[in-house]
Amino acid sequence: MSGESLDLSGKVSDEVRKTTCYMCACRCGIDVHLRDGRIRYIEGNRDHPVNKGVLCAKGSAGIMQHYAPARLKAPLKRVGPRGSGRFEEISWDEALGMATDWLGQVRRADPRKLAFFTGRDQSQSLTGYWAQQFGTPNYAAHGGFCSVNMAAAGIMTIGGAFWEFGSPDWERTKLFVMFGVAEDHDSNPLKIGISKLKKRGARFVSVNPVRTGYSAVADDWIGITPGTDGLLILSLVHELLKARRVDLDYVIRYSNAAWLVIDAPGTAEHGLFARDGEGNALVWEGVTERAVAAGTRGVRATLSGRFQLEDGRHVVPVFELVAKAYLDPSYAPEAVAERTGVAAATIRGLAAEIGRVAFEEAIEVEQAWTDTNGQRHESFVGRPVSFHAMRGISAHSNGFQTARALHLLQVLIGAVDCPGGFRFEAPYPKPVEAHPRPHGKPEHFGSNQPLSGPHLGFPLGPEDLLLDADGNPARLDKAFSWDAPIAAHGLMHTVIVNAHAGDPYPIDVLFLYMANMAWNSSMNTAGTIAMLEDVDPATGEYRIPKIIVSDAYSSEMVAYADLVLPDTTYLERHDCISLLDRPISEPDSVADAIRWPVVEPDRDVRAFQSVLIDLGARLGLPAFVDSRGRALYRDYADYIASHERRPGIGPLAGFRGRDGERVGRGAANPDQVERYKQNGAFFQVHVPAEAAFFKHANAAWQDFAVRMGFFDKPQPVTFQLYSEPLQKFRLAAEGLREPAPPAAHRARIRSAFTPLPAWYPPLEEEAVDLAEYPLHAITQRPMSMYHSWGSMNAWLRQIHTANRLFVPGAVCDEHGLADGDWAWITSRNGRIKVQVARMEAVNGNTLWTWNAVGKRKRAWGLDADAPEAGKGFLLNHLIGDLLPPREDGSRRSNSDPVTGQAAWYDLRVRIEKAEPDTASEPRFPELELPQAERPDELRYGEEWSR
Ligand code: SF4
Repeated sequence: MSGESLDLSGKVSDEVRKTTCYMCACRCGIDVHLRDGRIRYIEGNRDHPVNKGVLCAKGSAGIMQHYAPARLKAPLKRVGPRGSGRFEEISWDEALGMATDWLGQVRRADPRKLAFFTGRDQSQSLTGYWAQQFGTPNYAAHGGFCSVNMAAAGIMTIGGAFWEFGSPDWERTKLFVMFGVAEDHDSNPLKIGISKLKKRGARFVSVNPVRTGYSAVADDWIGITPGTDGLLILSLVHELLKARRVDLDYVIRYSNAAWLVIDAPGTAEHGLFARDGEGNALVWEGVTERAVAAGTRGVRATLSGRFQLEDGRHVVPVFELVAKAYLDPSYAPEAVAERTGVAAATIRGLAAEIGRVAFEEAIEVEQAWTDTNGQRHESFVGRPVSFHAMRGISAHSNGFQTARALHLLQVLIGAVDCPGGFRFEAPYPKPVEAHPRPHGKPEHFGSNQPLSGPHLGFPLGPEDLLLDADGNPARLDKAFSWDAPIAAHGLMHTVIVNAHAGDPYPIDVLFLYMANMAWNSSMNTAGTIAMLEDVDPATGEYRIPKIIVSDAYSSEMVAYADLVLPDTTYLERHDCISLLDRPISEPDSVADAIRWPVVEPDRDVRAFQSVLIDLGARLGLPAFVDSRGRALYRDYADYIASHERRPGIGPLAGFRGRDGERVGRGAANPDQVERYKQNGAFFQVHVPAEAAFFKHANAAWQDFAVRMGFFDKPQPVTFQLYSEPLQKFRLAAEGLREPAPPAAHRARIRSAFTPLPAWYPPLEEEAVDLAEYPLHAITQRPMSMYHSWGSMNAWLRQIHTANRLFVPGAVCDEHGLADGDWAWITSRNGRIKVQVARMEAVNGNTLWTWNAVGKRKRAWGLDADAPEAGKGFLLNHLIGDLLPPREDGSRRSNSDPVTGQAAWYDLRVRIEKAEPDTASEPRFPELELPQAERPDELRYGEEWSR
């Protein structure tokens, strides 16, 4: 909606245009105030489901993002060496002609030679679809270096995950426990939620090595040692099992705790579920002493024991394995205290509190409902303990199993999708089987051919891997190969190193959108820059021959592009926050949203999504042209309203049908985007009261989800405490199942793919000398800066202009360091010189700093003497993109072996005092980036001038 507001004298003042913020990934609703076509200020949209009027520092600083002098102004062609910053402005005709020429050659010859990767953008259902139509298997977004461990573990265990897939029940929870959440994450929703807890007097415990942000307002802070969260969680499970604080009715009803696991070591079916002829898992019926299909009405399934089936095979229920595994003394609080850095009494106290609140303070919502077995219930009964977790536990090489452990804990106490617990948000929950398998098997692609399905998905066993006939990876990033079998979001962090090495094969075009891979989005930054600049002496060509970059700003990566396609700001383009992509639903409502050009670009720039659609038509990609080869869509706005992924299902769920009155399913509506604008740029429909909880097994929710088009048939979820797909990979690693991994992969697959959640030390710790590198080093994202997005933002820069390395007091004392001293920090990958700050509210073995504050000199339109480039620094220089060489000389990426998640927080370092200095090291040569203006003064207001 847009409209004018009245000032106090009753005169018409601003025009207000409602759209969606994009200063971080939360997607809050904003009111943009304009006068004379210029933005005056931005405030929160009080009607919006995500933020309800709340606006953070980043959101209100959007004006400085929009008018930043660092904006690119026209397409660019590189005319000097990579990194020199020598570009020539070209027309869009020439730019699109070049891109079409390069991409067309690749598509005709070998589509694999395009690697198309996008950063933290929010149009992955379009970009993925485009890459699918192009026919390259080499597509993913940023998830592999962000939090794929959270997403994959959540979907494989409970059918949903934290972040935008669910939320604590802020209205009812009595104990909220948060693991490893950066303070900018899910920013406004978490702040609103935590303030609700504070008002109600609910307890909030934060587990994080650093006490900043959310941890600073927690009732209790547990300063855990990085990479040991899984051990702490499994110790809590140990205590809860010992105290019999387990909701047995819940686990029998909703999880696979009673399913029977075949006990036949050394055979191909060991550890798989016993099933009947129709594939249904079996449970042991205690009264009649026989195996029956899980879910059979009236059955009293047994949780413990060892039984023999009629065919002679022995079986045990999953819960028997759970109890045996976690009652082991190795998980006792005393046994894990030293390693986790958390006192045994603290662990015991937290477990007791979780058990007490869950079982002695249970709550009830009086609303009758029917489960998917047809049983009627008079109310929803809830265990009011909720959890939230994110990158702090995810970005470790053991993060997948840690996230699985947390979901196990939630299920054992009966706190998933109940009143007071963690609640799913639409379109979740969804069982892993209802997600696609990954597409891109070598036999399925060829020149000028689309892929037969989406790139990213969930393999259910080794047979779903993307391997060539010799077992080599089909994808450049090695996702869905033995390197990272369940890489559900791809491995963007391996793309440059693999493309440079031509491993598993060379590529011709690297196409990046919104990804600062030459700086803060890469491990081993200096090494990555060298790879981008490296020339093959045999040919005189760059080893990565052509690089296309689309970005709105002069980021460090732009300097390494051969062709730059300048994007608009988020206030100048259409966008779609889609249920097909990254939803913004709440537990009680389904929602999606748009962005639209609240101001017109004043430069020769184009919205990337529209450019991609244009390129799709120029290349003749099947879904972007009609039968006569003419462009199907005018631009992204046209695509949003017209495209149907399945009949009646499009990018937006609201205002569908010819008359705009249909919800979820319905014909395309040419006025749909306009209807969203009139509605405040979002759409929301409420979940029926009967469908509010236990969505995984709630008949009313399943009906609603089918009506809305989330699925075409009901998809109830049985929580997978024990994962059969993981066991299938393990059997392959034992040589008992085909395809089997090469010998070099077997040990790590066996140890990481445990069907029950397990903890193992982070892989870097295993590979380096801990006496040489005794300390951990991690980053936190500040509340006021989302990755490097605010690098050019004049307001946000004033909050974090330079960063220091925060050092525990005892470590300062040991090394004679005082506030403001300089220190060398050394890892196996390099060393940096930084200025330190003493801090007590941090784990005693952990150094930390703010993420992405350090900048390359003169990038982002900043002056050469900007503090970000002088005293600011990145930890990235210390983080190896590869683990140390193994005995046979081979190297693996620094990632979780299950999902390929980048292990940013596994870093080990040492610290030594340095001589006083004035700037941090390493010092990279200045970048002279094109088009970025550097005005002496930036002003905001009526007298705005640049
Ligand atoms: S949390 Fe802040 S930056 Fe993020 S979308 Fe909301 S207002 Fe914008």
